[in-house]
Amino acid sequence: MTLTPARPAVPRLVDQFELGLDAPICLTWELTYACNLACVHCLSSSGRRDPRELSTEQAKAVIDELQRMQVFYVNIGGGEPTVRPDFWELVEYAVDHQVGVKFSTNGVRITPERAQWLAASDYVDVQISLDGATAEVNDAVRGRGSFDMAIKALQNLADAGFQDSKISVVVTRENVRQLDEFQELADRYGATLRITRLRPSGRGADVWDELHPTAEDQRFLYDWLVAKGERVLTGDSFFHLAAFGDALPGLNLCGAGRVVCLIDPVGDVYACPFAIHDTFLAGNLLDEGGFQKVWQESALFTELRSPQTGGACTSCSAFDACRGGCMAAKFFTGLPLDGPDPECVKGNSEHALAGDRTVPATSQDHSRPAAVVLGMPGRPTSIPDRFCNESPL
Ligand code: SF4
Ligand code: SF4
Repeated sequence: MTLTPARPAVPRLVDQFELGLDAPICLTWELTYACNLACVHCLSSSGRRDPRELSTEQAKAVIDELQRMQVFYVNIGGGEPTVRPDFWELVEYAVDHQVGVKFSTNGVRITPERAQWLAASDYVDVQISLDGATAEVNDAVRGRGSFDMAIKALQNLADAGFQDSKISVVVTRENVRQLDEFQELADRYGATLRITRLRPSGRGADVWDELHPTAEDQRFLYDWLVAKGERVLTGDSFFHLAAFGDALPGLNLCGAGRVVCLIDPVGDVYACPFAIHDTFLAGNLLDEGGFQKVWQESALFTELRSPQTGGACTSCSAFDACRGGCMAAKFFTGLPLDGPDPECVKGNSEHALAGDRTVPATSQDHSRPAAVVLGMPGRPTSIPDRFCNESPL
């Protein structure tokens, strides 16, 4: 009998991801905090430009470094990134340096001409933000006129022959029952629907209690994803729902500092786009060693890549699927990081949410002075009727 030598154990992909990679696979770069809108749930509290924003040359140097690190694409957001006068120049520069670009926009600069330019560009993907399948629902959180602006952008992209744009939706209790309508909108414009979770970060912290999906909504969302989510992108953001039963497609793990990170407009590097807070600040890429040193050597990221305990969640039958949920959601609701997610589908955070907890103060706020209030169109909302002097446009 011949014995076949045992194969060396191949580590599971998810285990490798938990230990961190040489370069992030999901890198978000907020190019500016300037924004023409003032969405009530903005995760980065955007509005005003930070005067220390990276210059064009500094931004190009970052792209050079990403190329050297073989970061294959970057998610660009803001703020509204297209209001940076050098935005298109930077997109072109990134693509020319083998760094693909996915950018999120409210559509303000997606003119028919720009849509043509985008349709002719390789390695550029466009995500249009829409938080309601109707103007009434969308404009209540994103501001009056923002639905029409987004739809116009989608139309311009479709007319130009842009392939497979994305409609990006933050799921709230106001729009969760519109998922079929969102899918219809996506189909109409040849787009793919992408849905993400509302996190209580940035201005989202102020409206999270009012807007986050209820327990019934979460069940509805899970069932909808299982039944109809095949063509829907989720960015792996609903893995806490896996505790309902079958896991949803994706890594089902918090990638903060392991495979995910954020570069902000001034070059600060955070563990995750939803964790813009001093607690999750790993360093600044303008310091010696640049982004690579922050990513590979910072104390924060080293700690996040070390084995986590799971705390109270380890005794939960769903722990393997849910892993205790989202670090940022726990942090910004004042819950312990090794306890259950604030939207734990087994109800295990209800007690802690009802008890004494200290919600951390924001580290930074770039909101414009205009009042940001949650309201229906017709009531004063966060978007000015006319662009005033404070508008980055
Ligand atoms: S903190 Fe939350 S949003 Fe950020 S990577 Fe972890 S699970 Fe995802
Ligand atoms: S107790 Fe923890 S692991 Fe279990 S479902 Fe809730 S958040 Fe997930």
